[in-house]
Amino acid sequence: MRRKLAAGNWKMNGSRAALAEVEALCAAHPDSAVELLLCPPATLVAPMADARGSHPLRVGGQDCHSSESGAHTGDISAAMLKEAGASHVIVGHSERRTDHGETSETVAAKAAAAHAAGLVAVICLGETLAEREAGTTLAVVADQLGASLPEGATAANTVVAYEPVWAIGTGKVPTLEQIAEVHEYLRKELATHLPDAADGIRLLYGGSVKASNAADIFSVRDVDGALVGGASLRAEDFSPIVSALE
Ligand code: PEP
Repeated sequence: MRRKLAAGNWKMNGSRAALAEVEALCAAHPDSAVELLLCPPATLVAPMADARGSHPLRVGGQDCHSSESGAHTGDISAAMLKEAGASHVIVGHSERRTDHGETSETVAAKAAAAHAAGLVAVICLGETLAEREAGTTLAVVADQLGASLPEGATAANTVVAYEPVWAIGTGKVPTLEQIAEVHEYLRKELATHLPDAADGIRLLYGGSVKASNAADIFSVRDVDGALVGGASLRAEDFSPIVSALE
């Protein structure tokens, strides 16, 4: 049985004042059956971990380096995130793949570093609009999955987020049939790579999830939760999404 996961990606947004949203979210879901995760900018990982108090909200980073330490100006290691209070880290978000030229091989190395530091890696993948229109979506996500999964991935240390690039921050959402097709396919692909873990690995959908579409998306088989960007910044927007999953 896979526990549902509602994950928020704050991207490069938020300040200490925004931690009031964390307190409001925790107060709205004091004893949730759903696992809650927020991934703020690295500067807010430790303050957010403090702000949650005794609430089981998980805090995550948005990226990590594949090395433990060294001459990598501006980067942050998985162990540093862990020490700051993180339990998870997003790797391979499309904005990292596009803005920083990250390949799936880089993503696998980062996920391996996350695992080595004791973090859960949330591995993101998804097709561009051109790839969808060319009919190559399934081939693209299969390639990304195969190349982004590190050795030793398990249901406990790995989450996969399917995020069509064209749906991120655009208000455009695939049809439920399109989401179902990709999630079912990813589950089968997981089974070819990780026969023992495939059934337990959570598959999140991400891309313009909001209160008004969350329940429909969560009704799709093999959708175990969501990775939410814009609608995770304010408790009043994220809380109804969490409720739709509860
Ligand atoms: C994301 O950044 O992972 C994301 C899904 O963003 P949004 O929900 O804003 O589309």
